[in-house]
Amino acid sequence: MRVYKDDSRRIDIPTEQNLTELLHSNAIPLPPSHIIASDSLTNRSLTIGELRSRAGRIAHGLDKTYHPKEGDRWAVILPNCVEYIELFHALLWVGGVGCPINHALKPVEVAHALAVSMPQYIFAYSPSLPNILQGIEIAKKELPDKGIPWTTPTVITVIDRKSNYAHAPDDFLSSETLPIPHYTDTTTRLASIHLSSGTTGAPKGVELTHYNFVSNVHQLYAHDPAQFHPSARIVAFTPFVHIAMTTMPLFFGPFTGAHHRAMPAPFNLTTFGHLVSSMRATSFQGVPSIALQIANSDLTSRHDFSAAEVINCGGAAMTPEIVDRLCSKAPWQIIQVYGMTEAAPYVAYQRKNQTLPAGAIGHFLPNVEAVLKVSGSSVDAPVGGPGELWIRGPNVTNRYRGVSAAANADAFPEIDGVKWYNTGDVCTIDADGIVSVVGRTKELIKYKGFQVSPTELESHLNAHPLVADAGIGAVWDESQLTELPTGYVVLKDDVLGGDVERVLREIHEQMDALVSGYKKLRGGLWSVDVVPKNATGKIVRARLREYLTGHCSLG
Ligand code: AMP
Repeated sequence: MRVYKDDSRRIDIPTEQNLTELLHSNAIPLPPSHIIASDSLTNRSLTIGELRSRAGRIAHGLDKTYHPKEGDRWAVILPNCVEYIELFHALLWVGGVGCPINHALKPVEVAHALAVSMPQYIFAYSPSLPNILQGIEIAKKELPDKGIPWTTPTVITVIDRKSNYAHAPDDFLSSETLPIPHYTDTTTRLASIHLSSGTTGAPKGVELTHYNFVSNVHQLYAHDPAQFHPSARIVAFTPFVHIAMTTMPLFFGPFTGAHHRAMPAPFNLTTFGHLVSSMRATSFQGVPSIALQIANSDLTSRHDFSAAEVINCGGAAMTPEIVDRLCSKAPWQIIQVYGMTEAAPYVAYQRKNQTLPAGAIGHFLPNVEAVLKVSGSSVDAPVGGPGELWIRGPNVTNRYRGVSAAANADAFPEIDGVKWYNTGDVCTIDADGIVSVVGRTKELIKYKGFQVSPTELESHLNAHPLVADAGIGAVWDESQLTELPTGYVVLKDDVLGGDVERVLREIHEQMDALVSGYKKLRGGLWSVDVVPKNATGKIVRARLREYLTGHCSLG
């Protein structure tokens, strides 16, 4: 088997460092007054000294109030803000496991997310409270019917300072601090359960350990120390629920001294421009669709972008043409980033001032090993690929929560006793070890960097009384550089004689009301004669796309 790895860049990663201990260590010494986070929602800022002190004192308060057990799960359903950072550190400090859930989810989606992580506690954004409480009711009703025991979590409302019932983190701020924990089992001790649909199926819980996160922080810093320095000022607009925004503002920022300014969703060009100029931002992390908005705007002439050194771009493929257009706007470097939830998240990263072949990402992080396989098999692809990328490393999880042993074995194939993660991405690796992502075999759809699980949307469509069968595919929107979730339904016979257009419109509207914004069927909902399936009954999603190119009649 051909393994792609670079032993000359291998680093030692502490196996007994947990995330609270990482919070108390730095890449280079920092004064306690050094700002590592701020927030455009409340204009609060947080120094490294305050974060350490407040997280320990909030942990003490939580411990006294709730007496949580080690390993209890804490759902964090909050927008981008400094409270997110201190509460996440506090829950880790009390031995808890953080379960980030998007605060914009609709009740059925909240119910699914809660069913995956089964939290004992929820930090809830008060404007999202109605959906969260409805989600709890749905889970409470549905799970026992499926034979899954359910215990209603304790909901702790945060952020809304105007309301009487809301608790801010200050309500838990004790005068004492909890001792910093030390664990010898960081390689198995969970730090978070993030949602990802992986290569197939509905969103699942990705079990990430303290060691996975600690490793990714050390790997990324060792990979390119020049890019991450205490004077880095980063606008963080990607929702914190995404894994990149767990690792970056929560762990990597305090370790390197980089200052993240949290900007809540939805992304707005003008707000972003103001933030960049007011903090003299040196960088920001985005997805290609947002990079495209910046490239197509006059933002750089209306705001002061003179401090911006790099734009980190990942989550989806970035075209060389957009890179060129962005580079004509300002003397910054576009840095290509490749990663995934299952790798906590960074796998390959372009270095500062590194020139790459068009479309390439860069080198793997130290200690990441890879193999390229012929799709759907464990046979090696030709040297250099293209092939399906399987990876392993200290940052990579080795299981999903609550899925069958067979499903875990599929996602994490074992060769000679060693587990790999099949990314479902098609990559090439050149003779210098430079990785390019050239395609995807997994069924996952990405709308502007957000994961959309076709299976999840299909289950909603299939539950509709007028639908006999359903499939979800993606169409590519060149004008926005993103995939658009697209629905295909076989309508029940009695509908077909009637007003098909009206029925489709109604189903489409009902779907859009049921799911959150990024899952809407922006590619449309189409009536088809049959949903193409293979011999085992699996939907052949690539063929769904052919419907849109005239191979089949549409409603
Ligand atoms: P997520 O777990 O939401 O971060 O999604 C991870 C997936 O996004 C990867 O497995 C890829 O399919 C895709 N992805 C991430 N970064 C890139 C990139 N730079 N180029 C192409 N696809 C990417």
